Amino acid sequence: MGKTIIISNRLPVKIYKNNGEFELKQSEGGLATGLGAIYRQADNIWIGWPGMEVHTNESKEEIAKRLAEINLRPVFLTQEDINCYYEGFSNEVMWPICHYHPTYAKFDPAYWQSYQEVNAKFRDAVLQIVEPDDIIWIHDYQLLLLPGLIRAVHPDITIGFFQHIPFPSSEIFRLIPWRIEILENMLGADLIGFHTFDDARHFISSITRLLPVHSVSNVITYNDRPVVVESFPMGIDDKKFESMPGEQSVVDQINELKQSFDGFKMVLSIDRLDYSKGILQRLEAFDLLFQQHPEYIGETILYMIVVPSRDTVPRYKELRDEIDKVVGNINSRYRTLNWSPVHYYYRSVTPDLLSALYSMAEVCLVTPMRDGMNLVSKEYVASRTNNTGVLILSEMAGAAKELIDAIIVNPNNTHEICQAIIQALNMSREEQQQRMKKLRSVVSKFNIRHWVKIYMDRLNEVKHLQESMK
Ligand code: UDP
Repeated sequence: MGKTIIISNRLPVKIYKNNGEFELKQSEGGLATGLGAIYRQADNIWIGWPGMEVHTNESKEEIAKRLAEINLRPVFLTQEDINCYYEGFSNEVMWPICHYHPTYAKFDPAYWQSYQEVNAKFRDAVLQIVEPDDIIWIHDYQLLLLPGLIRAVHPDITIGFFQHIPFPSSEIFRLIPWRIEILENMLGADLIGFHTFDDARHFISSITRLLPVHSVSNVITYNDRPVVVESFPMGIDDKKFESMPGEQSVVDQINELKQSFDGFKMVLSIDRLDYSKGILQRLEAFDLLFQQHPEYIGETILYMIVVPSRDTVPRYKELRDEIDKVVGNINSRYRTLNWSPVHYYYRSVTPDLLSALYSMAEVCLVTPMRDGMNLVSKEYVASRTNNTGVLILSEMAGAAKELIDAIIVNPNNTHEICQAIIQALNMSREEQQQRMKKLRSVVSKFNIRHWVKIYMDRLNEVKHLQESMK
């Protein structure tokens, strides 16, 4: 068997300049952790963009050399690529379409042109190192064309593809002017994975309606090659989140938070800035809580972190301004001398503070309008080592399919969210523990290592299936 090549838009490290020198920082993300065990082994490799624009060949060589030491290989992108392929096609076409916001999509042919060119850049990077026995695992919506582009050169190679965001109903997907090219190229993979069964089902219906292919159950036959489509709900590094609250640095953070919030009940909300996350609706539900149930005034707080993201894109900047306005409005109406309803931070937080907040919060409120999986909900559960705490979770998050012992809400129904907050704040310790134990067992059983293993095992099986059908 050959080596494994992982490909994603971003590498699992961040590269930055410090005093004129390039420095690398390992990413804390779940994918980086989960795949870390693979790409660091033997001559396996991870290909992706190193996260900054690099101008000179000398710098590129230096970075490539540093990365090669840790089994990483860069694809360098220009500012034009970032604008059109990444912010443009990926985030202004695929992201809104896959999150059911077609009116936010900008079908600009220049974006599509750039998306094709950059996917071809990734293909070239793969072709430089790939050998016939290798296994290729491509990740996410920035690289939908890559499976087909590689397949055209290597007809028999093993290719897995995993999409980390939702796949929409075919009625939404077909709006994309370049839908055929996208689907045909996705079918270059042997195994196409999504987080949920519904995403897989939507993908299969887009394929069978838009392409002249036939499918039996979850197997699509394309160019005489069976392609398997399946769901693999991604997990987290449960052990990491479970052990962090015991570390001294996290204990110190918890003590610090307690000084400010002792005596108050904390509802926690953590998202990237994104219209898919339902942040405004969540604030509306909180407003409703204080309006209709003033007994919670002076007692309950919403601790809300919004991690900056894409805020150069006008749609995101508007959302940020709107959040500022609504938070200001709620705080000005309900605050008392020594209590504020919403503690809002527009910034990212350290892993220690994140863990401290997960440990502190009586309730975690996760109400996206759409979310491929949602890891915050799983991280909260894994952090609750004493089995208390309540998770309120949107039924539109992939995680809701697994975390069925959460209080599940429709994120558009602010009244229902408000009621769920009340139910959570008043839930008995026994009921909290009953629910949390079940949630914790799901999160620990289906963790990130399990996810990587079942995906890789299945890819192997698919290849054997294809061999047996030849
Ligand atoms: N997170 C982070 N920095 C922060 C707050 C959160 O890196 O300041 C992490 C969080 O721990 C989680 C991820 O960001 O792993 C968010 O993942 P999720 O699936 O919830 O949403 P996404 O941002 O991928 O849409």
